[in-house]
Amino acid sequence: MSGREGEKAGDRDGYKKGEREMRLVNNFFGEFGGRYVAEILNPPLEELKREFLKAMEDDEFKSEFESVSAEYTGRPTPLLFAENTTRMLGGGRIFIKLEGLANTGAHKINNVLGQLLLAKRMGKRRIIAETGAGQHGLATAALSAKFGFKCRVYMGKVDIERQRPNVFWMELYGAEVVPVEGVSGTLKDAVNEALRDWASSFEDTHYLLGSALGPSPYPDMVREFQSVIGKETKKQMEERGEKIEALVACVGGGSNSIGFFYPWLSYPWPSSKTPRLIGVEAGGSGDNIGEHAARMSGSGRPGIVHGYKSLFLLDDDGQVTPTHSVSAGLDYPGIGPQLAQLGKDGRIEFTKASDEEALTAVKTFAKNEGIVFALESAHAGAAALKLAPQLPKDRAIVINMSGRGDKDLFILAERMDRDNWHKFLRSIV
Ligand SMILES: *Cc1c(COP(=O)(O)O)cnc(C)c1O
Repeated sequence: MSGREGEKAGDRDGYKKGEREMRLVNNFFGEFGGRYVAEILNPPLEELKREFLKAMEDDEFKSEFESVSAEYTGRPTPLLFAENTTRMLGGGRIFIKLEGLANTGAHKINNVLGQLLLAKRMGKRRIIAETGAGQHGLATAALSAKFGFKCRVYMGKVDIERQRPNVFWMELYGAEVVPVEGVSGTLKDAVNEALRDWASSFEDTHYLLGSALGPSPYPDMVREFQSVIGKETKKQMEERGEKIEALVACVGGGSNSIGFFYPWLSYPWPSSKTPRLIGVEAGGSGDNIGEHAARMSGSGRPGIVHGYKSLFLLDDDGQVTPTHSVSAGLDYPGIGPQLAQLGKDGRIEFTKASDEEALTAVKTFAKNEGIVFALESAHAGAAALKLAPQLPKDRAIVINMSGRGDKDLFILAERMDRDNWHKFLRSIV
């Protein structure tokens, strides 16, 4: 990967500090972003950018995105007033955007749908994707089945062992799940392997990247496709006449948060009328290297990994360090470039929640509201539980529940009801 190509590919006038207007494709967000890839990947990235910009002007694309979203994904997803939790805390009114009720269980499907429709327009027949915990792979496999694409998902060998249920679902949808050994056998090795595949297959293959990161145009494209979450939320809150004080979302690579925050990014700021935007990272089990994935709220350093410049958890040699979170979707060592810049500007506030706080949040919302948060989303829930008591009663806080917790059964039961769970597991083998 060459830095010089990255500098060349990006025009640095895309997003400047203090400038609230966003363009559709920025390449750079302040100092972060770019396209730091092997030269051979420039043509498919340019093709993708062209097709994306064309699609954004095309009513037919928009209407297909909307109709599949309605009849397949189940959009709009509901917005729930968390009445009992609000009463329990006695502060601001808590709302939950139930993005986890989308088909396949999380927000990932929005981006997958957008990119698959682009792949169709570009005449591609094969889809490749990387996956960590398997949620992005699952959404990609499901929609590839629906649209008739051949689908291959790269997944770290270690992740395959840890996430057997999602591997089972992906294969049921007809996808080929390919184990990647690499250095750690996890997500970062899977991304590298997918990029390698794409370098020799882009004639007929689209690389469906799963978060708002990677080389340009992915960060912009993924944000646009995920912005459906924020747009719906804004409308749903306006219809109820609610005054939003803060929006809270968990941050792995950053796709659910940037899509959720999107409509408010163009608001004047700072201003008392503009909601606070709060990103919550994985505080994990401690502050030492390998115990968390806190980049903005912890110790992220500038670096270039996976084709873009951003903040990463790096050691003194510039190598990516191990991370940990109880939630498999928040342990990526980097963060999308636009979020990194917005965090540096102070527009987005970053905080973290620990493994224990996330587990407590899962229990609290399950008992109070009859809703099971995904462990990732429960980090946002935990931050909201802390913030709500400090707010006046006429102000609202909205949590993005990026996923539902069904997928976490094995982790939750292990943590919350170990003996009975083990007894059950022994009884079925
Ligand atoms: C993948 C995932 C995340 C983290 O990814 P982002 O790109 O930061 O949104 C969060 N929540 C759920 C449920 C996920 O599946």
